Amino acid sequence: MISKAFKATVLGSIILFSNCKEEQKTDQQSMTENILLQEWTGPYQGVPAFDQMNVADVKEAVEKGMELQLQEIDAIANNTEAPTFENTIVAMESAGKTLDRVFTYYGILSSNRSTPEFRAVQAELAPKLSEFRSKISQNEKLFQRIKTVYEASQNNPLEPQEQRVVELTYKQFEMNGANLDAEKKKRYAEINKELSTLYTQFSNNVLHDEENYVTYLTKDQLGGLSDGFIKSAAKIASDKGKDGMYAITNTRSSMDPFLTYSTERELRKQVWENYYSRGDNGDEYDNNQIIAQILRLRKERVGLLGYDNYAQWRLQDRMAKNPENAMDLMLKVWPAATARVKEEVADMQAVANELGDDITIEPWDYRYYAEKVRKKKYDLDSDEVKQYLQLDKLTEAMFFVAGEIFNYKFTPVEEGSVPVFHEDVKVWEVTDKDSGKHIGLWYLDPYAREGKRSGAWATTYRSSTTFEGPTNVLASNNSNFVKPAPGEAVLVSWDDATTFFHEFGHALHFFAADVKYPTLQGGVRDYTEFQSQLLERWLSTDKVINQFLVHHETGEPIPAALVEKIKNAATFNQGFGTTEYLASALMDMELHLADPTNIDIDTFERETLDELGMPKELPMRHRTPHFGHVFSGEGYATAYYGYMWADVLTSDASEAFKEAPDGFYDKDVAEKLVTYLFAPRNAMDPAEAYRLFRGRDAKIEALMRDRGFPVPKN
Ligand SMILES: [Zn+2]
Repeated sequence: MISKAFKATVLGSIILFSNCKEEQKTDQQSMTENILLQEWTGPYQGVPAFDQMNVADVKEAVEKGMELQLQEIDAIANNTEAPTFENTIVAMESAGKTLDRVFTYYGILSSNRSTPEFRAVQAELAPKLSEFRSKISQNEKLFQRIKTVYEASQNNPLEPQEQRVVELTYKQFEMNGANLDAEKKKRYAEINKELSTLYTQFSNNVLHDEENYVTYLTKDQLGGLSDGFIKSAAKIASDKGKDGMYAITNTRSSMDPFLTYSTERELRKQVWENYYSRGDNGDEYDNNQIIAQILRLRKERVGLLGYDNYAQWRLQDRMAKNPENAMDLMLKVWPAATARVKEEVADMQAVANELGDDITIEPWDYRYYAEKVRKKKYDLDSDEVKQYLQLDKLTEAMFFVAGEIFNYKFTPVEEGSVPVFHEDVKVWEVTDKDSGKHIGLWYLDPYAREGKRSGAWATTYRSSTTFEGPTNVLASNNSNFVKPAPGEAVLVSWDDATTFFHEFGHALHFFAADVKYPTLQGGVRDYTEFQSQLLERWLSTDKVINQFLVHHETGEPIPAALVEKIKNAATFNQGFGTTEYLASALMDMELHLADPTNIDIDTFERETLDELGMPKELPMRHRTPHFGHVFSGEGYATAYYGYMWADVLTSDASEAFKEAPDGFYDKDVAEKLVTYLFAPRNAMDPAEAYRLFRGRDAKIEALMRDRGFPVPKN
């Protein structure tokens, strides 16, 4: 996962505001008193004053930051000089620095140290921020200046990075309706307003069904479940006023382990049905009508801009470029995935028969019998693996990889020299191994705590740009490992170690950036997970295994046989994983390519799955009525394919290393990797960048091999 400080530069707008002297004086006062608004001071080109931040300052700081940015945008839009790259595009890139700084603190208070007090401020600010953003994208004078610069650049192209920032800026406005006439603009805004209401309704309905369909178990219904799971189920039941019972909530984190381990088949069926019926219960919380309306409005909105369908509009600035390319990839993998499901079902049926279970595999049996097959076939004890995965050693391993591939050196900063927002946060200075050149700081916040969001993520407090002189990078990684007793090693699972490397890949992508303008830092949705996914691959290289994956007590490296088991198990259950994912990704695309005029979502979903030949033993990962990625907002609408798109690149790029003389540590491939795939970020078209790295486009064969699928013949 990647999360970036809210980038406001291109998104703000004009608010007229008073020049009253008294007000200015008040502003001046708050500017000097509110720490969140102040320039960063101290070492390393200035660092955030995390030790002084206060929730009470947030509202004022965000409002002031917005106001300042709007003034800057106002000045650009009302400039009486003819529009130029410098006075329009560069000025926009330069705007909003104060708000950016405020959002660094805001990000920490929201993700790492949240409190009810902060969430109240957040709720209060949300509509104001949304208004702030939409006002810039609707700023007519500003857009006309951007358009003039853009059109001039079409005749007389600028230097490549400048040209790209002009095109990305223009495109962002154009895609959001800036070119429409007044009447269409009005309709465009109405549609967006209506959609935002529907997105909220959609999410609330799913939430309702997640909260209101709880399965309560009695003591004699706990067969197969782990002690930890039972304890937490008992606590949830008791919190809900059902002392002595055990609650299975209607969420993935409860459903998944229950279906994997519970021996109670009827209850598995019930839990399964609750989960996959969210938003589809035919009551007032049913999402089917809402989805149809969302699809109609999206189609109408892109129609105003001259597009045939939403997918065409959405994918134009993605690496895939158009829905045909995305569909083509998915449909190439689909037959192998569903064929593998048949084999998996046959394996599971055999195990069920051996056990004397008189059943035919149904969707609520898949996880349960898959687990039995896994034990039998791979005999992988995850607890045994953990003994070799220590957090400190993994951190050293990542530094080693960064040294080999990026030529970076990580040195802990002197304790207390850089302010942190919690005592557990550690900071390292990143320099070039040979020249000693300073590159930035890496903050690591490793442990779970109250008020910290779950999962793992990477973010930046400052990115590298050169247009106003070179800046260093302040990047962070955040995880939720359980803090050990003093002196004890933190032992993590293989999955968590992989995620740790993944997030470090995002950080390296930030450190390696060589771009001129902030806009060129931006991620491309079907591309930006590729770099981090690729970095995961170094975890299982010999050099990492032999030096860093050592037993926490004996110091012995992890046995080769155990590594072999881990690698073999990687292709296990890929039929299920790939098929459930692809069914959702294909549905996302098909729904947006279809004519929504009289669409009946339930029928459409059933018929589309029939045409695809969806195996009956498993459902889509997200059924349409609760597909939040796609219908609780627009973040992943016609973009769910992106995970696989990035994975194709990951598999193909890792084969470039495998084929090289020195494998994953080959200096030539590493240099190309940094130059073409990490340094440019969005300063170069991703497809072109990949071609420069690989000498050709990515092919899907490597992905098929990685998932253990047969490779299609050309
Ligand atoms: Zn990620």
